[in-house]
Parts: sequence; structure tokens; C-alpha cells
Amino acid sequence: MEKGIIVKGIGGFYYIKKGNEVFECKARGKFRSKRIIPLVGDYVLFSYDETTKQGVIEDILDRKIELIRPPVANVEQAIIVFSLKNPDPNIKLLDKILVMSEYHNLELKICINKIDLDNEKLLYEIIGIYKNTGYEVILCSTKKDIGIDRIKEVLKNKISVFAGPSGVGKSSILNKVQSGLKLKTGEISSKIKRGKHTTRHSELLQLDFGGWVVDSPGFTSLDIGYIDPEELGFLFPEFKQYMDHCKFTNCLHVNEPNCGVKNALKTGYISKERYNNYVDFLEQIKEINNRR
Ligand code: GDP
Ligand code: ZN
Repeated sequence: MEKGIIVKGIGGFYYIKKGNEVFECKARGKFRSKRIIPLVGDYVLFSYDETTKQGVIEDILDRKIELIRPPVANVEQAIIVFSLKNPDPNIKLLDKILVMSEYHNLELKICINKIDLDNEKLLYEIIGIYKNTGYEVILCSTKKDIGIDRIKEVLKNKISVFAGPSGVGKSSILNKVQSGLKLKTGEISSKIKRGKHTTRHSELLQLDFGGWVVDSPGFTSLDIGYIDPEELGFLFPEFKQYMDHCKFTNCLHVNEPNCGVKNALKTGYISKERYNNYVDFLEQIKEINNRR
């Protein structure tokens, strides 16, 4: 039996890469009866008949993380991309994607692209907001070739997904990172039009310097209803050390007295923007739970 990684799945066929070769395989019936669907990103054992050119996935090796949308297994890292301008950054959306990525235990990097566009005041504001989070903020410009080497370093030898709104430059960055890739880039409006008519299947792209990238953006659904209210604070890394000082162990850091998080907010260790988004997400989660 051979070992490989599923890089693409379409109409019941799976494309498995081993070295530089791709094998077309079907899945064993046993997966269906167990309600297991092989996913892009799964490491599998497969057998392949060279004469009939038919392959079969025999086993799925232990799967680590499963991103619900797009359905990809074993993603280790999310690079969350926003642009300094066109479109303007949306900090609430950024925080939401960060929370969802933390929930899935992904390693995280923030990338601010289009820093060739002038918006310096906002840039310093954003850097300030994330200063105490521990997240690296990578400044990028595909137009001026800034930050691309750092992106290459963080992608190396990992399975990564790019997340972030349409039009911020995710495809442009990937095209820069890997010469030879020619992902379509474009203005926001034309992309939205195209998006309506095509169903996206996720694929893994192999990087020639080592590593894999999911070819479509992660976290297209922004539902956070599956997160437990008491767990939410733990998904804000800079809150954690202050939560030890909360009087109540089940403190939600909103109305409770003697709250470590609210104290850290007063002294400025926790940023107002991050705290306000936390409170907002908490409300959203409670509302979803009430409706269920
Ligand atoms: P995606 O939807 O996130 O994949 O974004 P694209 O890669 O398609 O880029 C959207 C638009 O932004 C395109 O018109 C790109 O030419 C433009 N763009 C990408 N990177 C930069 C950059 O660093 N600076 C500027 N000024 N424009 C950029
Ligand atoms: Zn608290």
C-alpha cells in the first residue's frame, strides 16, 4: 500500500499526491457505511492498479483538525489577510475569524496587505490593537514586494489556509509566493459575479519550497453558535492571564464584580476594540443558543 495526501476531490473521485505523482482513487465502501467522508488534506493509505489505472483509498490516517467550511482536514495554520484600504479593514470580522481559528487550534498570523496605499494612521491603530495578543502582524504589499519573504517563511512545511474578505489580495499574495501559480485575481465586483455561478471545491496547492495551501478562503461561514459562552474568553489569548484574577470562576467578564479582564481593560492592557468585539460575540452566541 502507498501513502499520500488527498489534494482534490470531485464527484466521488479523489486525487492523491505522492511525491510528484497524482493518483485517481475511489473510496472503499466501508467509509460510506461508517459515514466517514475522505477530505482534502487527509493523509491516506491507498492501493493502485497500474494496468487498470484504478486506485482505492484503503484507510484514512488519523485526522487532526477538520475545518467545516471549506471541508479540509489537517490544516495547521490560518493566515488572515486584510487590506489597509480598498476594502478598508473590518476589525470585527478580523476578530471573528481569529476566534474561529483559535477554536480550531490553528496557528495564526495576521497579514495586512496593500500597505503601499496610504493609510498610515489606521495602520498604527491596528498594530496597537493587536500588540498584546501575541499574534504576529505581517505587513505586505504585492505591488511593492513587501512581506512576501516572511509569508514564505511562515508557510514553509505546513498546511495553511488563507482567510479574509474578497478583494484584499489573497490570490495576489499566493501568486507572488509561488511563481508559476496563476490564480485569478480581480476587482471585487467581478469576483462576486463569478462566485455565484461556480461551486467551489477546495484543493491543496503544493508549494515548491515545502508546504501546502488550501486554494480557497477558509471560514466562509461566520456562525459562532457552536462556541460555549464560558469558552469564548479563552479564545482571546491576551485575556487568559487576567482571567485568573476574576472573582468568579465562571465569570463572563461583562457584569460581574472584581473581574480581571475588566480591570485589564481599564489599565489598557486589553484593547477597547478587542473587548467590545468580545462582548458582541458573547451576545451573538447567547442569542443563537436561545433560539435553539
Ligand atoms: P482576493 O479576493 O483576496 O484573492 O484578492 P485579489 O488577489 O484578487 O486582489 C484584489 C485586487 O487587489 C486586485 O485588483 C489586485 O491587483 C489588488 N491588489 C492585490 N495586492 C495589492 C497590493 O499590495 N497593493 C495594491 N494597491 N493592490 C493590490
Ligand atoms: Zn472576568
